[in-house]
Amino acid sequence: MAKSRGYTAQQKQHLVNSFYEQKTLTCPECDILMDHLHIPPRSDVAYVRDRTLLTCPSCQRTLIVDHAQRD
Ligand SMILES: [Zn+2]
Repeated sequence: MAKSRGYTAQQKQHLVNSFYEQKTLTCPECDILMDHLHIPPRSDVAYVRDRTLLTCPSCQRTLIVDHAQRD
């Protein structure tokens, strides 16, 4: 499988934890503030819940946080 640009599992976990703790989210690679985009649930796909797309404006890495992941 080709290497794609993304965060490591550890970086993702850190971002998800920070998100739930409502801390300021910064890109672990660039150390700058990340953009938030709220993704509303789709009515045609019942299992899709509220999510937030985090995007780093510098390196363009993204991470989707499922709000229901909490706990
Ligand atoms: Zn970045």
